[in-house]
Amino acid sequence: MNDNLVVIQNLKKHFPIYAGVFRRTVGWIKAVDGISFNIPRGKTLGLVGESGCGKTTAGRTLAGLYQPSSGTVSFDGIPIHSLSRRGLSQVRRRFQMVFQDPYGSLNPRIPIGSIIAEGLDIHKLCQSRQERRAAVEELMEKTGLDAAWINRYAHEFSGGQRQRIGIARALALKPELLILDEPVSALDVSIQLQILELLNSLKAELGLTYLFIAH
Ligand code: ATP
Repeated sequence: MNDNLVVIQNLKKHFPIYAGVFRRTVGWIKAVDGISFNIPRGKTLGLVGESGCGKTTAGRTLAGLYQPSSGTVSFDGIPIHSLSRRGLSQVRRRFQMVFQDPYGSLNPRIPIGSIIAEGLDIHKLCQSRQERRAAVEELMEKTGLDAAWINRYAHEFSGGQRQRIGIARALALKPELLILDEPVSALDVSIQLQILELLNSLKAELGLTYLFIAH
């Protein structure tokens, strides 16, 4: 077993700048330009920096949502960006992202039970409707949501409750690492503390590792 769950070496992510009708590449935005760090298993690493310095891009690249321009990301010794699409989908179950904006990151058209069950459905992990419902109710209870709200829609919840829904969704596949991209920045100060306390207690209860992005 590796002591470091995540090892990032000289990671770069450059986005092209296009111009003209033929969308020629005229330059590059060096969003992430050669960062290296490790996250030991069971620990929290804080990634802190001013707006626009590339924190979200680093988190998204670590989550496998972006292909790096160069450098490597290893998760539990697995270089994730050299995996096939199928291999990446398997290993991605083990790390999940919680997004900054609890308003924009939840689909307004489906009940929150289905939002939370998204990963369970994609990976076909429940054999019956009852099993799926029980799994969702357990996740709701774990994150401080009343299981009776399972059929409500995201707009019916407060910002703090929506972030709990985002956390419940992220926990559905029993991940080892959560990439928390400014998870409390959009919330009222009084609610921020509640969400931080929830994240702290979940970390202890589930033995999670966190990358905590903040500005
Ligand atoms: P914030 O704290 O404001 O969220 P950040 O540190 O997370 O900022 P990023 O969102 O990673 O910063 O952005 C870093 C730079 O990369 C910015 O200049 C941004 O405009 C640029 N950038 C981010 N995503 C893309 C993209 N998909 N295409 C092109 N440029 C991008």
